[in-house]
Amino acid sequence: MAPRNYFIGGNWKMNGSVEQVKSLVEGLNKINVPAQTEVVVAPPALYIDRVRSALKKEIGVAAQNSYVKASGAYTGEISPEQLKDLGINWVILGHSERREYFAESDEFVGEKTAHALNAGVSVIACIGEKLEERESNITSEVVTRQLKGIADKIKDWSNVVVAYEPVWAIGTGKVATPEQAEEVHVTLRNWLASNVSKEVADSVRIIYGGSVNAKNAAELATKPNIDGFLVGGASLKPDDFNTIVQARS
Ligand code: PGA
Repeated sequence: MAPRNYFIGGNWKMNGSVEQVKSLVEGLNKINVPAQTEVVVAPPALYIDRVRSALKKEIGVAAQNSYVKASGAYTGEISPEQLKDLGINWVILGHSERREYFAESDEFVGEKTAHALNAGVSVIACIGEKLEERESNITSEVVTRQLKGIADKIKDWSNVVVAYEPVWAIGTGKVATPEQAEEVHVTLRNWLASNVSKEVADSVRIIYGGSVNAKNAAELATKPNIDGFLVGGASLKPDDFNTIVQARS
């Protein structure tokens, strides 16, 4: 099996201003992207075009959401086809904040994933359990149900990165232990092996997200099934983000 490349995503969420975005890009342009490492940042949609223009090409750019149509009367939405038009090759879909605040279902996230992939946009597909679900010992059921929502709609996984992000760890400073994350990543890989294929299970990157920072990334990165990170808060600090990018090298 070929080793899986390390993947680091930076999710800026609804943060930034023209000035802040400019200085973030300046910081990111100083990052030396190591071999076998992919780095992708997701600015708010309003700033995507200027980020893509100013950011060095070794770093990819993602949208934080996209819709299931190419164009039409869908006020406020953005299509993957439009992202492609701007040279944006990635999109984050199914983030827990979208599931929670915008009522996105497993099925809808699956549809969005399929549409983006068909349009040639790669997908960072997010899944993860809430605190009460972990405490009720249903983490595996929840994350495999969410993964099935995607698997039901797509055939080709080569342009998908799965992000396991326990909701209780997002923005809380309460990072999962390397063992907790590794356990879920193994569950996801086993599910893929049984329900999709062994090849997909071996090759798909499964990254961890939730309070990843410059201090905890290196230890998490030692786990064999953790292929990188989706970073929120720390992605707004280029020096910390750089430390996370270098964490496995
Ligand atoms: P956090 O967010 O790193 O700020 O916890 C991660 C995410 O929501 O992707």
